[in-house]
Amino acid sequence: MSMGKYELVCQEDGEVFEDGYGLFCPSGHKGLMRTRYEVREFSPRPCKGIFKFYDWLPVRSVYETDSCPVVFRSEKLSKELGLNDLWVGLTGYYPERDCRSMSCTFKEMEAYPTYARLRDSGGKTIVLASAGNTARAFAQIAAETGNRCIIVVPETSADKLTVTERSENVTLITVKGDYADAIALADRVVALGDFVSEGGARNVARRDGMGTVMLQFAQTAGRLPDSYFQGVGSGTGGISAWEASLRLIGDGRFGDRLPRLRLSQNLPFTPMAKAWNAGRREILPEDLGKEREDVSQVYAEVLTNRKPPYSMKGGVFDAMTACDGSFIEVTNDEARSAERMWMQCENVRPDPAASVALASLVKAVGDGTVDRDECVFLNMTGAGRDRVSEDYDLVTVAPKADVDTDVTDEELRAIVDA
Ligand SMILES: *Cc1c(COP(=O)(O)O)cnc(C)c1O
Repeated sequence: MSMGKYELVCQEDGEVFEDGYGLFCPSGHKGLMRTRYEVREFSPRPCKGIFKFYDWLPVRSVYETDSCPVVFRSEKLSKELGLNDLWVGLTGYYPERDCRSMSCTFKEMEAYPTYARLRDSGGKTIVLASAGNTARAFAQIAAETGNRCIIVVPETSADKLTVTERSENVTLITVKGDYADAIALADRVVALGDFVSEGGARNVARRDGMGTVMLQFAQTAGRLPDSYFQGVGSGTGGISAWEASLRLIGDGRFGDRLPRLRLSQNLPFTPMAKAWNAGRREILPEDLGKEREDVSQVYAEVLTNRKPPYSMKGGVFDAMTACDGSFIEVTNDEARSAERMWMQCENVRPDPAASVALASLVKAVGDGTVDRDECVFLNMTGAGRDRVSEDYDLVTVAPKADVDTDVTDEELRAIVDA
């Protein structure tokens, strides 16, 4: 039997199966599923946007777009850091470097293939609970692709959700409560039927979408980097960079050595860094510190995931083990100072999470972890909200309904059907 374009492989027992669009393998294992593509050779299509990597995305539908991570050399930053072979990957809005991802982070690279794969599977509506970068990306790309999405947020963060295009496709529900209430409500919407949860790291379209920054690196530099720097909350970007690197190694023309993942977290909330540095596959309660209080203190809020896909088969721990990676902890001051360094070199403001990544590179150069001549890839995962707001009129997504936590299923049904 021919497998068609791709198949999924359970990372727990190696079982291979057809994409059923679920988040777990058919045997219900806890490990991640990974895509395996029929085309083993890296052959980007001659177009600009993310779907030039069609062969290595778990989709059959594509959308027309120019949005894609961009990889370039920053002479000034290289000089500032004293590095001879530094490459920057940037996803965001920065016209001088031809970066045109309007929602300004690499979450946009997760949104495109997720919507395409949903269309392949019959067009169910996605539901998410977030007011951050994920929500902005999925709202922005819903408008562009004609897909629908339902976003649930606490009442107090409703005004944070801005996009460049007004759209009827986004149903924003605000809840009188906190994030836990928003998550619980999103789960209830999914349970109504006809809706799917975005799935986080378990969604192979999100992972392979994030992995395109490594594919773009290979296309631009013609090789794999020696090391890869990224700020992480869930670490999904690290898993994705590893998986994309494995595919590139499989091609044969990009060397046979995995890039060493140099993942960073923002002090005082650094649970994965703590578990990794203690040599543990498990995150213990002590790694979470004072949790709520610590989370409230970090500069890069987006890096404060409390349940990262770290321990499971195919997750962050395995990725780090495979490449002999390391975690770097960065303070708010170090992140802000790295941001100032960046602003002197490039004319676009980074997302705080990207500043954390740069700060980790500054530290690695300082303590000799990184050699001057090694091929370094710095993933600036988000930038340009300042620039987009100069060039476009941003619109705030208007809530369709404001509900109490005890809203009935009938009432919810009426809201999402309206
Ligand atoms: C979500 C996010 C990250 C962290 O991504 P991981 O899922 O932990 O890989 C980093 N930077 C930005 C801008 C983000 O939005």
